[in-house]
Amino acid sequence: MPSTMSRKVEQSRRLQQRAESMIPGGVNSPVRAFRAVGGDPPFIVRGKGSHIWDADENEFIDYIGSWGPLILGHAEPSVLDSILAAACNGTSFGASTPSEADLAELVLSAFPHMQKVRFVSSGTEATMSAIRLARAYTKRKYIVKFEGCYHGHADALLVKAGSGVATLGIPGSAGVPEEFIQFTVALPFNDVQAVEHAFHKFKHQIACVIVEPVVGNMGCVPAADDYLVALRLITERERSVLIFDEVMTGFRLAFGGAQELYNIRPDLTTMGKIIGGGLPVGAYGGPSEIMDLVAPLGPMYQAGTLSGNPLAMAAGIATLKQLRDRKQEIYPRLEALSGKLVDGVAAAAKEAGVEFCHNRVGSMFTWFFAQGPVTDWDSAAKSNTEAFGKFFRTMLDSGIYLPPSQYEAAFLGAAHTEQDVEQTIAAAKQALRR
Ligand SMILES: *Cc1c(COP(=O)(O)O)cnc(C)c1O
Repeated sequence: MPSTMSRKVEQSRRLQQRAESMIPGGVNSPVRAFRAVGGDPPFIVRGKGSHIWDADENEFIDYIGSWGPLILGHAEPSVLDSILAAACNGTSFGASTPSEADLAELVLSAFPHMQKVRFVSSGTEATMSAIRLARAYTKRKYIVKFEGCYHGHADALLVKAGSGVATLGIPGSAGVPEEFIQFTVALPFNDVQAVEHAFHKFKHQIACVIVEPVVGNMGCVPAADDYLVALRLITERERSVLIFDEVMTGFRLAFGGAQELYNIRPDLTTMGKIIGGGLPVGAYGGPSEIMDLVAPLGPMYQAGTLSGNPLAMAAGIATLKQLRDRKQEIYPRLEALSGKLVDGVAAAAKEAGVEFCHNRVGSMFTWFFAQGPVTDWDSAAKSNTEAFGKFFRTMLDSGIYLPPSQYEAAFLGAAHTEQDVEQTIAAAKQALRR
């Protein structure tokens, strides 16, 4: 049972100080430092199902799930067995192993528009490579992305890139020369006219449009009705490549991701997070006509020493197999339980008279401390981040581990229980009252 209002922090504080002396900010990814919300970041030592434990033996209900990958929960037995079995045969060979085609088969079965897929080791690599491929295929230079969408930390994509970047209050990033982003066009999300205008202005020069079909990286922001359809029609008409960045949404919103949920086929899809079941995996894929441009078949170079790593493949295979075999049970349950949680907390906010709105698609959601509706970066940015920070810290002290930023989506997984949800709503009621 998670502790209430008595979080010990001595050990985590000591570990943070030790890490800070050697690692920038003590962290290997900025959001983990809690700069947006304040307080002591717990150092996690163990996880099981929907719960995690920190170095001070505090227990938390986890709504981050390693930022999405752990849709089956922590230390899921079939995933652990699969990793252990692979590890006993050696950890890496830098040569092909049978498991790569096993994971490819599972991925292709989920995404019918894809005929071929290439595995990499992170979402960043997946989107960077997909964009290179789109440019190789179209022989055009410009790319269109949307404000508040995050596609990893490649130079050309660190423009109006949502969550992490926004949380830190830096518009892009130092160290990215203007020349490196001169072909990146950043447009407001959910605005079809802006896209039409860009294609008019850069006629026959836009290689691709890359989009998170449900944005998770400015908080959860769904596409408006027919927005994705419009992107599909415009890119088809302009012979530009449509890339769905499904690093977060793939295998989460449905087994076949947002493209299955909304029944829209992009030209290229990028994946990450769930596809690796908690180990580092990313992927990009599409029709053979485009994918056959990738080396060694074609002239678009892309490589990776640890790409297709057997441990990572094993974790991905076990995760995707469970999702495939139990999809009739898992996805409807995620929808129902997430609905109950998100609505329950929203009702508590209303009762407490807190300015509040929420967005949710399936098991991806955000409670915004804003009047709303939140439909794009500008409306998300109106959130009261100070109120969010207070809410976040109170929830953490009550044993509820939420994303430590207003601009990150939270996730529910298959291991969460009715009791987890009820306990979370009860904690939120108290937190919002104060
Ligand atoms: C997390 C994320 C990425 C980056 O993936 P990394 O594995 O962190 O490099 C890219 N795109 C989207 C939509 C993401 O959510």
